[in-house]
Amino acid sequence: MSTVIQTEVVIVGAGPCGLFQVFELGLLGIKAQLVDSLAHPGGQCTELYPEKPIYDIPALPVCGAQELVDRLLQQIRPFGAGMHFGHEVTGVAKREDGRFDVVTAGGLQFDAGAVVIAGGVGSFQPKKLGVEGLDAFEGSHVFYRVQSAAAFHGQRLVIFGGGDSALDWTLDLADKAASLTLVHRRPEFRGAPASVEKMKALVAAGRIRFVEGTAESVLKNGEAFAGIRVKGSDGVAQDLPADRVLAFFGLHPKLGPIAEWGLALEKKALLVDTEKFQTSVPGIFAVGDINTYPGKKKLILSGFHEAALAAFGIQAYLYPAKRQFLQYTTTSPVMQKRLGLADEAAPGT
Ligand SMILES: Cc1cc2nc3c(=O)[nH]c(=O)nc-3n(C[C@H](O)[C@H](O)[C@H](O)COP(=O)(O)OP(=O)(O)OC[C@H]3O[C@@H](n4cnc5c(N)ncnc54)[C@H](O)[C@@H]3O)c2cc1C
Repeated sequence: MSTVIQTEVVIVGAGPCGLFQVFELGLLGIKAQLVDSLAHPGGQCTELYPEKPIYDIPALPVCGAQELVDRLLQQIRPFGAGMHFGHEVTGVAKREDGRFDVVTAGGLQFDAGAVVIAGGVGSFQPKKLGVEGLDAFEGSHVFYRVQSAAAFHGQRLVIFGGGDSALDWTLDLADKAASLTLVHRRPEFRGAPASVEKMKALVAAGRIRFVEGTAESVLKNGEAFAGIRVKGSDGVAQDLPADRVLAFFGLHPKLGPIAEWGLALEKKALLVDTEKFQTSVPGIFAVGDINTYPGKKKLILSGFHEAALAAFGIQAYLYPAKRQFLQYTTTSPVMQKRLGLADEAAPGT
């Protein structure tokens, strides 16, 4: 029989915003349990662009996406949040006493005072190439994300896509691959104009190829992967021998189970207020890419702000009689104690 984990807050999603939610709750002395369906923390940063630099995190002129996640993990360490990876939250139900039953597909059960949904784009799935027989080579020869760029060095590459990810990786790998062909279904690209210009310059210099077309079938040498056949926009098929195929067609916004918890939605996002970032169900809050409100911008720093205000909203929900104070980490002995700094802080600071 599985035991029910008692907690003040369950946070659904351990992307950057879910991680920072632990911190903001921790400063207020509130304990949390983090649950994510992925096998590791970091959400999109870790899953989609771990090696890319981020330039718009306040006070960090440049920070790698995985580095940001590592720093957040370090920052929340003092608060000792429970972490449960590889567990998809399938059910959140409010009880009559105002608390919540939270369950995962694998059978974890929580009894929580409040819930924060930091589910990003949900259980996100990359859009696939849709070519018969290609799935068998996914993860070995066919990739929808780059976890380690070095794995593609010295290889004959075919990259599909017309957005920023396809262009960025084309530019990044052009000099490191044995050969590189970029395939896009039309001559116009959605990516940044500067990247398009750089890519065209590489094509003009003969350092990479560009093919206008779409994937048609997998090329095999016996059972071994040998490349991909592309149907050109003129209808003519072309074989592209390759060691690795990368495709960047974006993500399916797949909310998954979150859509079934009876919360008000707008365009597949959870509607929240901008005072507490509470959803249509009191006690359930939502921060980061998963929420929407007038003026919403899906940026990490927006999610950080939302997490700070949600923490105060959660405190008020859990402890309505408690007076709220704004305290500074620089000067609050209570917060410094929570941060594990009490012994190090100089008296009177
Ligand atoms: C290529 C790229 C570059 C980017 N560059 C920048 C940038 O420079 N600056 C910037 O500010 N933003 C950038 N972003 C956007 C940024 O990554 C997102 O705004 C950010 O990741 C949102 O964080 P989040 O915590 O809300 O959600 P996510 O990072 O999406 O994490 C959500 C987590 O919730 C989990 N989850 C979902 N549903 C469930 C469930 N039912 N049960 C358990 N777990 C669940 C998911 O597995 C996921 O790990 C970029 C995005 C991409 C794709």
